[in-house]
Amino acid sequence: MKEIVILGAGYAGLRALHYLQAGHGDYHITLIDRNDYHYEATDLHEVAAGTQPKEKITYPIRDVIKEKVTTFVQATVTKIDREQQQVLLEDGNKLSYDYLIVSLGFRSESFGIPGVEENALEMVDVPTAEKVYQHIIAQMKDYAQTKKAEDLKIIVCGAGFTGVELLGALSDKRADFAQFAGVAKEKIEIFCVEAVTRLLPMFDEKLADYGITSLKNWGVKFLTGKPIKEIKPGVVVYQDDKETGATKELAANTIIWTTGVSGSRVMDASGFSQRRGRVMVAADLTDPEYSNVSILGDVSAVMNKENNRPYPTTAQIALKMGEYAAKNILTKINGGGEMADFTFKSLGTVASIGNTHAFGTVGHSAVKGFPASFLKKAIMDKSLFETGGFKEVFAKGRFDLYH
Ligand code: NAD
Repeated sequence: MKEIVILGAGYAGLRALHYLQAGHGDYHITLIDRNDYHYEATDLHEVAAGTQPKEKITYPIRDVIKEKVTTFVQATVTKIDREQQQVLLEDGNKLSYDYLIVSLGFRSESFGIPGVEENALEMVDVPTAEKVYQHIIAQMKDYAQTKKAEDLKIIVCGAGFTGVELLGALSDKRADFAQFAGVAKEKIEIFCVEAVTRLLPMFDEKLADYGITSLKNWGVKFLTGKPIKEIKPGVVVYQDDKETGATKELAANTIIWTTGVSGSRVMDASGFSQRRGRVMVAADLTDPEYSNVSILGDVSAVMNKENNRPYPTTAQIALKMGEYAAKNILTKINGGGEMADFTFKSLGTVASIGNTHAFGTVGHSAVKGFPASFLKKAIMDKSLFETGGFKEVFAKGRFDLYH
């Protein structure tokens, strides 16, 4: 009997599990994750801003386990030994595999900027997202006592997809934050410090402008073309003048770091040939050095042959990768022919800015405002369905008609 081990119960890992559990052949599956729940990584900003409780973006992994074929192990992976075909766990245990799916997800990337780890809040998983929300509320309550202006200020570092969605959710919550502080909504100041001036390059300029202008109209203050050089306690230091390198400081008691991510540290620790935790995979999503190891999602870089650049890491591509890798392994186990290369056609990209607004592209069409927000919720439910099935969509889906 062949042993298939899946590392990580994110979008890619659970999608692969779904297809493997539905397949036939002489194999057993072990799924390993450090948590006993799956979380929708694209919705973390909602927990960080407090627009959704963590229960809404998580579900128990056991809900999707078919015990006849799959064993779930809650443990932290520290290293992969591809030579010995073993996975090493933090608790000292080792697991052997015939086929391995590595889908260990992302971590925050500081780019070596001083003070980031010590003085900024990251938002990479459920505990860190919850910590952001608790921190904001603690500052608001603190203001009610001390009247320190910095308590009312929030800085989001980086206006990428994550930063912009977080800014939208924070804008939705300004009135609630103000209530905790006992001030008018306008007193809550939300800033975004961003290195470049052309924001959100995945969208055309007009569409990106729409998103940013909406946020500005709701009171977000953007400082663009200002690379962050250091984070001191309660202070963001940014380059104000490119020519002279002169810096300026912006003080706030909540500083959130959303300037980009890297793949899991396990990739580096295991000697994979990688850049920022992402391995450039072969055309069938396997490790170029070991064809029994599939590498998916945020730890994987897949070349888009149309523009010779790796595809961006999104939930949509991770789900597709999970399906492909499972089918590839089933084909190998059951002695089928070669799989055609992995290909990906994006259905579109929609960024939410708060609960009732969004913007993006679907096919070649731009979508904006409330209709886009409706579409975004449909996209969220689709991905929830693809890992969790009907049960999770009925329990956690975004449309009231389920509840
Ligand atoms: P990103 O790399 O897309 O954006 C980071 C932003 O931070 C950029 O605008 C960059 O210029 C800025 N930045 C970097 N260093 C800086 C510095 N020192 N000072 C100031 N600004 C700085 O990162 P992300 O938003 O975390 O997204 C990561 C990936 O995940 C992307 O591929 C994104 O498309 C994807 N994502 C997808 C979804 C979704 O599909 N729903 C949601 C979130 C993220």
